[in-house]
This record gives sequence, structure tokens and C-alpha cells, in this order.
Amino acid sequence: MEKMHCLRCNRPLEPGQKSVALYMFAQTVGIKPRQKSIAHRFSFCPQCSVSLAMGPPPEGALNVAAWDMIRDLVAADPALNRAAWENLAGILALLPGTGTDGNARSSPASGYFEF
Ligand SMILES: [Zn+2]
Repeated sequence: MEKMHCLRCNRPLEPGQKSVALYMFAQTVGIKPRQKSIAHRFSFCPQCSVSLAMGPPPEGALNVAAWDMIRDLVAADPALNRAAWENLAGILALLPGTGTDGNARSSPASGYFEF
């Protein structure tokens, strides 16, 4: 199975991981025979979904249409915001503490400060 990535930040999205999926296909109308493109699926991680929704409208009619839909989801329920917050909190917990790691502590003679 093909691995999904966030369309905006390219973060890998595992199957079942919290994300927003956007489906798109094109279809002819009033033209025989009717033609239909394959359906594409685009995914956005919770952080990018919330970030997009909170940000200004993008350029382009299709982008605005997608932005409107994502904004509806973000505004309708705090669950997506919570998922973004949980992801962010998880990432921050993985980062090394500043100056609190024993081996990173510099002696007074080292001549520089670490922040
Ligand atoms: Zn993303």
C-alpha cells in the first residue's frame, strides 16, 4: 500500500493516523459518453489542517474551495484542533531539553553559553 504524506508539509501519515482526507475527481457533464477521471486522495496532517484554517485564504479558486472545507471541519468541532495539539506536544517532548541534558552541560571554562 502506498504511503500517504501530508500534502503541505510532506510528513508521512501512517494508515489510521489522524488526518484530513480530501478526495477529488473530474467528470464530464452533458457530454456522451460520460467520462470520469480516477479519484485522487489528498491528505493533510492535523497541524497543517488547523494552520491552513487559521491562516488567510490561499490563491486560486480550487485552493479556496479546499480551504473552505478544511475550515468547516476545524471550526465544527475541537477534535481536529486537539489532534494537532497532541501531535505538537508529542514532537516537543522528543526534543532534547535545553541545558538540562547531563552530557550537553558546558563547563564554565568552555568559553561560550548554550541556550
Ligand atoms: Zn502537514
